[in-house]
Amino acid sequence: MEIKYTRKNVYKQADGEQLEKIYSFAEDYKNFLNTSKTERGASATALKLAEEEGFTPFSFTEKLSPGDKRYFINRDKSIFLLKVGSDDIAKEGVRMMIAHVDSPRLDLKPNPVYEDGGLCYLKTHYYGGIKKYQWTAIPLALHGVIVLRGGEKKTVCVGEDEDDPVFYITDLLPHLAQEQVQKPMSKAIEAENLNAVIGGLPAVGEGEGEKEEKDAVKTAILNLLNKKYGLTEADFQCAELCFVPAGKARDVGFDRSLISAYGHDDKVCAYPEMRALFETDSPHTVMAVFADKEEVGSDGVTGMQCRIICDMLEAVAANLGANPVLVRHVTKCVSADVTAAYDPTYSSVFEKRNSTYISCGAAVSKYTGARGKSSTNDASAEYMGFIRDAFEDCGVIWQIGELGAVDLGGGGTVAKYIANLGIDTVDVGVPVLSMHAPFELVSKADVYSLYTAMLAFCKK
Ligand code: MN
Ligand code: MN
Repeated sequence: MEIKYTRKNVYKQADGEQLEKIYSFAEDYKNFLNTSKTERGASATALKLAEEEGFTPFSFTEKLSPGDKRYFINRDKSIFLLKVGSDDIAKEGVRMMIAHVDSPRLDLKPNPVYEDGGLCYLKTHYYGGIKKYQWTAIPLALHGVIVLRGGEKKTVCVGEDEDDPVFYITDLLPHLAQEQVQKPMSKAIEAENLNAVIGGLPAVGEGEGEKEEKDAVKTAILNLLNKKYGLTEADFQCAELCFVPAGKARDVGFDRSLISAYGHDDKVCAYPEMRALFETDSPHTVMAVFADKEEVGSDGVTGMQCRIICDMLEAVAANLGANPVLVRHVTKCVSADVTAAYDPTYSSVFEKRNSTYISCGAAVSKYTGARGKSSTNDASAEYMGFIRDAFEDCGVIWQIGELGAVDLGGGGTVAKYIANLGIDTVDVGVPVLSMHAPFELVSKADVYSLYTAMLAFCKK
């Protein structure tokens, strides 16, 4: 028995075979990530993978039996994966893993198109917590859907293929930025300046000597969009389109030990929980949820404050012939979400002894919240004990910490909404550097550790 606690580095513990598993899992994760930039993308990718695994659609009224594998897609933006176990669900409940698949980004406004200075632009409204200056002067891709008059839905994805064009938000050149650089960072780039360039080729008038048309670039772009998608300017009012950083996940470092990508938060937890669900041979009934709207407070029909999570649990219980209230009260949940990894360059905002560290394994946060633990699910000692036993029984390398120093840190996850239903819940995720930046950084070792942690949780 070790008397003193010491944090372990996953890479230091790993032998050649384990290292291979870590790097190979990272390849699978990067592939998932590249088609999962938005909640719709992640849900569609999960659906495809689930179907390959033999999952079939969930019905709220069907009778279920052990071994059944089901999925429920909620409005194309959230997915529930269910694997029915062999034990008594009224005694053991459900092992629930919930990760969100929405990430900070730039949504389009309802009337986004305009022309100025010879260029056509789209106006944006940022979604989630961003540092606005990070979104200028980088290549952007456009993702989402447009619903045309009559209900036809068009899917848009431009900027991800090598041959695709990308989009671009300008910043001021240093030569003219003397005033800008004196401003506080929050004011240097205003939200209303996050306008993306989408074209610069004016429409040419039909007849000879025709007067130069006003907004000729906008006209040409709208014509082009009409040809490609059949849409008119008014159709932007019935659309969900957003700009995200263009490009694929990349290895970082000469040793390729890290991954930089857009949207690790929180696909880096969604992917391991899904893989754990696919692969577990647990006797318990297991559910993995990809949730939407976490970055803006988990409200709405696809967020985790929605009644849908209860409806699902109740339907599963009823379909197995168990009392839904009993099932809910013994259900156990892991809110799989990222936390801030200790960053030595910005050490003053962290408390060294209670931070999570890159490559030191799955990161547990007993509580989140701000200041005096305001607005947190604070997991009980008993539930922490259950989680520790689950992980250590299976040799999972894990660590525990807070998101930043007291009175400096703050943040929330879906944990409290699930706990408010009377379900024991704790946050377990991956430590991230540069969280919420266009490209975030994680360690392959931690992604793999979270996967082993999720497998252990399913089984305990
Ligand atoms: Mn998150
Ligand atoms: Mn986040």
